[in-house]
Amino acid sequence: GGQRRCCRLEAEAARAMLDAADTLLFDCDGVLWRGEAAVSGAAAALGRLAAAGKRLCYVTNNSSRTRVAYTEKLRRLGFPPAEPRNVFGSAYCAARYLRQALPPGAAAYVLGSPALAAELEAVGIPHLGPGPAALPGPAPADWAQAPLDPAVRAVLVGFDEHFSYAKLCQALRYLLRGGTDCLLVGTNRDHRLPLEGGAAIPGTGCLVKAVETAAQREAFIVGKPNRYMFDCVASEFNIDPARTIMVGDRLDTDILMGNSCGLTTLLTLTGVSTLDEVRGHQDSDCLTRQSLVPDYYVDSISDLLPALGE
Ligand code: PLP
Ligand code: CA
Repeated sequence: GGQRRCCRLEAEAARAMLDAADTLLFDCDGVLWRGEAAVSGAAAALGRLAAAGKRLCYVTNNSSRTRVAYTEKLRRLGFPPAEPRNVFGSAYCAARYLRQALPPGAAAYVLGSPALAAELEAVGIPHLGPGPAALPGPAPADWAQAPLDPAVRAVLVGFDEHFSYAKLCQALRYLLRGGTDCLLVGTNRDHRLPLEGGAAIPGTGCLVKAVETAAQREAFIVGKPNRYMFDCVASEFNIDPARTIMVGDRLDTDILMGNSCGLTTLLTLTGVSTLDEVRGHQDSDCLTRQSLVPDYYVDSISDLLPALGE
């Protein structure tokens, strides 16, 4: 219990925190890298953590890459070697969710990337949808006439650069046809993806909201802050939440998930959230806002290096 204080993690406290942990969960973008560039010193810090025998897992809301693609990116950027089973992307976790939620043989209608389709294939779920789609005629009356696949029992929404009105129409038709027998699943709700220099592009949350609005129902969300992503990690490895650290750059996804799953939470300031936002949450007496306050913060995860022997 007690309120989280968001203390700067100095070397001595960092050593104590790391001694008390056997697993670290790392958010990816904003923590390990920004776009295609590694955060300076991050690879060295993870190398030392791996050498110290810590289990390292990667939890990312980005549904546009497979687990295998993340292991390749980690290697390319100089991080310690990772196995696909240590990577929990929202594409893989969505496939895993549907595998247990759908009856055998049922298919998914997918608004998403080729990576999302590949993760569904890897767990044996038939799917249709990825790639561009066209409206089946010139008039709105035609749009409700395109053929529907009788095997579809779920609509899955991820990051889709070919998102379109035609796909929104098909998604709604599957959801109306199946009623509550047709699942509605979103990979994540990130509303914006920050780019360098303060620029941003719309995130997957915008696409999930469009389908939810059309269908007038709420999607099940696989990614952070939902605990489903942590449950995936905990079902793959023997995880003691009290000996696990969640490292992230976003209060409303990474830190909220970590706090609600009983993990030690560490905010790094190389990404989206700022210390001012933390202080604002701390000063409020709203319990929901208190759950966005991390235990510790660092300017960058390279600040862990002194506690790891240099
Ligand atoms: N979704 C998409 C499509 C992204 O490109 C990104 C970051 O690049 C994210 C989500 C956020 O990823 P993470 O959870 O690793 O910060
Ligand atoms: Ca992030």
